[in-house]
Amino acid sequence: MAPMHIVVLAGGIGGARFLLGVRALARSTGAEVTAVVNVGDDVVLHGLRICPDLDSVMYTLGGGADEERGWGRADERWTVKEELAAYGAEPTWFGLGDRDVATHLVRTTMLDAGHPLSAVTEALCARWQPGVRLLPATDDRVETHVVVDAPGEGRGEQAIHFQEWWIRHRAALPARRFVFAGAEQAKPAAGVLDALARADAVLVAPSNPVVSIAPILAVSGLRDAVAASTAPVVGVSPIIGGAPVRGMADRCLAAVGVECSAAGVGRFYGARTGDRTAGNGDRTAGNGDRTASTGDRTASTGDRTASTGDRTASGAGAHTSTGGHSNTGVHSNTGAHGSDDLGGLLDGWLVDTADAPVSIPGVEVHDAPLWMTDETATVAIVRAALDLAGLRR
Ligand code: GDP
Ligand code: CA
Repeated sequence: MAPMHIVVLAGGIGGARFLLGVRALARSTGAEVTAVVNVGDDVVLHGLRICPDLDSVMYTLGGGADEERGWGRADERWTVKEELAAYGAEPTWFGLGDRDVATHLVRTTMLDAGHPLSAVTEALCARWQPGVRLLPATDDRVETHVVVDAPGEGRGEQAIHFQEWWIRHRAALPARRFVFAGAEQAKPAAGVLDALARADAVLVAPSNPVVSIAPILAVSGLRDAVAASTAPVVGVSPIIGGAPVRGMADRCLAAVGVECSAAGVGRFYGARTGDRTAGNGDRTAGNGDRTASTGDRTASTGDRTASTGDRTASGAGAHTSTGGHSNTGVHSNTGAHGSDDLGGLLDGWLVDTADAPVSIPGVEVHDAPLWMTDETATVAIVRAALDLAGLRR
């Protein structure tokens, strides 16, 4: 009998910590694990391709992450960053550690030589031995952009790279919506569809729903593959007691009109059974503005702003095709915004015991302590998620 195969949809830090537990459980049961990781945060800075979420997962699983800081390499030095600053080289707000730079140099060299990101990631993992298969959601370029008010009265709006919004502005600039530039043209990376087709369980890590999970699902065909999977799909809430455990997911959820709660995120993901009426009642920002992606397909500087060219009143943005998908929600590939949700994702939803009871029509909800304080605690969370998936281990 083939070993059990677990596919995990993951962002950076939350995804990485969760995967520590998945890997530990998989080791004890002989299961195989594939992580499908967000690339919407990726950015090219100083000529280097940086993949924050892939690196968070790779470093964490490889034992090379800085635990305290939560991102980047342990025992990091900052000489390159200081030297760049001395040249006045922009941007200065992005944390680029010396050790980290080596990863980006190897990656960029391989990408420039024509290797797809999935192959590059595999090559990097030869060093880190993460113990799970790491796949980028796509080998194509997908960038999360945040549409904000342009500075100055009545100037309309502009799209800035997610990293500029998240790091430089600490997510404090009110976001009108998120755009996953390039997602519509992107295809799932080599191995992703095959992994989903072979999955015995698909777990949605307690990652940021709006800027980690949504951009994975926005890749053309990826969400449909999850929806079509014969495996149960179980999500783990990143929100405990109405707040993110760490980070600024509350600001992302607010931007798309989703309540920052385990119930709110569960409804945002929605029931895979297709009960589309369920959970839509509390969505406030109904507008249906399917604003087209910004069209800046060069998308390489990351720190530069890109005008969307959309100066229309709120809610009357350029309507674009949803790419022929059979459902609404994030796989419109134009971003999670307004009244959109990820409708049709979940069979099961795991919430923290403090948040129970939560009821989401069409979704089986269980509760368990969801603090990933150490690997043992995280293994218990993964076990509860697999229980919910009907796979007792
Ligand atoms: P990022 O890409 O580095 O921001 O990381 P992710 O998107 O993968 O994860 C961020 C999310 O992880 C945040 O929204 C946190 O609330 C969530 N998170 C972090 N630690 C924990 C934890 O111990 N338990 C749970 N349930 N969620 C957590
Ligand atoms: Ca991230």
